[in-house]
Amino acid sequence: MPDAPPSFSPERIDTVFTRLAAANPAPETELAYRDPFTLLIAVVLSAQATDVSVNKATRTLFTVADTPQAMLSLGEDGVRDHIRTIGLFNTKARNVIRIAEALIRDHGGRVPSDRAALEALPGVGRKSANVVLNVAFGQPTIAVDTHIFRVCNRTGLAPAKTPAAVEARLDQSVPARWKQHAHHWLILHGRYICTARAPKCGSCAIADLCAWPDKPTGGPTGGPTGGPTGERRQDGDARPAARTGKGPVK
Ligand code: SF4
Repeated sequence: MPDAPPSFSPERIDTVFTRLAAANPAPETELAYRDPFTLLIAVVLSAQATDVSVNKATRTLFTVADTPQAMLSLGEDGVRDHIRTIGLFNTKARNVIRIAEALIRDHGGRVPSDRAALEALPGVGRKSANVVLNVAFGQPTIAVDTHIFRVCNRTGLAPAKTPAAVEARLDQSVPARWKQHAHHWLILHGRYICTARAPKCGSCAIADLCAWPDKPTGGPTGGPTGGPTGERRQDGDARPAARTGKGPVK
């Protein structure tokens, strides 16, 4: 990765989130879930897998097992049968059962709402805990995944060498009023606009704020090296508004 650009001023950060919020006022996770338990399981299954593939698997898994006890009754082999299409399915099936056991044994069958207890569960790291704390319990945590890490370094929003360092910078610099949804705004921006290989700078609501040295400068041809084909949108009407999360399965 080239040298990261300097981080944004507080005013610039506020403008970034003002624009992302205008485009998508209430962003949601794209993982399908019913309650904190199914969210936790979906998050654990989503490691190195797409949300689409996880949703496809959990559509049948949660039909037969959407509580810790039901998951235990289904058993590791049964869980594995539902998630075979997901990467690392053997390890994940084992962790799902161990999580169900731990929730019943240590937490009365409920998902804990504190970080230490979540991170003590098998297969649950800081990023997964942050997602559960944010989505299930409304805490203003920011889970730095590959999309957020890329966006923060590429744009200069919160450049740092590790996800943990990016999270720390965001935690320090994102205004309180944007914290709750910052995680989803940045993920959706990275997933659909500021993509890894061909960022859609011509459709980017924060293009004029972005410090990426390789972004197009408004040339007549399309693509990230030659300038966007269309008019650069700077009115806050970002494309992620059309790609909002599916929200809970009810
Ligand atoms: S201008 Fe391009 S590189 Fe910068 S944030 Fe937008 S999509 Fe990403």
